Amino acid sequence: MTYSVWHRRLDGNYRMIDIDSVEVCHKCYTPIVLLELAVYKGQWFKQYYVLRNLARMAKVPAYIVLYEKACEDDSQGAISNFYVRQVHPKLSQKYFKIQSGDYAQWLAKLHKKCKHCGYNSKKTS
Ligand SMILES: [Zn+2]
Repeated sequence: MTYSVWHRRLDGNYRMIDIDSVEVCHKCYTPIVLLELAVYKGQWFKQYYVLRNLARMAKVPAYIVLYEKACEDDSQGAISNFYVRQVHPKLSQKYFKIQSGDYAQWLAKLHKKCKHCGYNSKKTS
């Protein structure tokens, strides 16, 4: 946040965005999926152009994830619903809803097998 404010003071020839979440392989840290996150407050628009470009270059999928807080205390990590839209490799026009209890399973599917090292998060060693 402080860095973003500082960066906005530069002249208009410099642009930056922050990447909210990079899911990585548990073993080799290779990126698996890029996520742009935002609290859902009735909005469905979220910029994704840079995210999509990065995903294309990294050859990984990318999604916008909007989430509804279950309570205002951020330290609880309580989320009631997720709304997910794929932006790479497919550019979906719609969000799909994932209830809080199912989101971890959705992430697990993305992690199922690392394309770089072959680590399988479903197997325990
Ligand atoms: Zn790996």
